[in-house]
Amino acid sequence: MIECTNCETAQFLQITQSRVYFEDGELINEIMERYQCTLCDSTGQYSDGGETTEPAVDGDIRLTAERPKFA
Ligand SMILES: [Zn+2]
Repeated sequence: MIECTNCETAQFLQITQSRVYFEDGELINEIMERYQCTLCDSTGQYSDGGETTEPAVDGDIRLTAERPKFA
């Protein structure tokens, strides 16, 4: 789950841009999403590189440990 680092909640986050990349027209290989907090106007970017790359965040958002990570 993703939340705003200023407000410490995901409640006001809005996806402003979302891209999904495919490889060979098959499985979703990479995801990029831009977020904006409608409360404090912070923006951030989330990307998930699929099997090879760990999910990453940039800007004023952060990942919370809502979903269990495989060890
Ligand atoms: Zn905020």
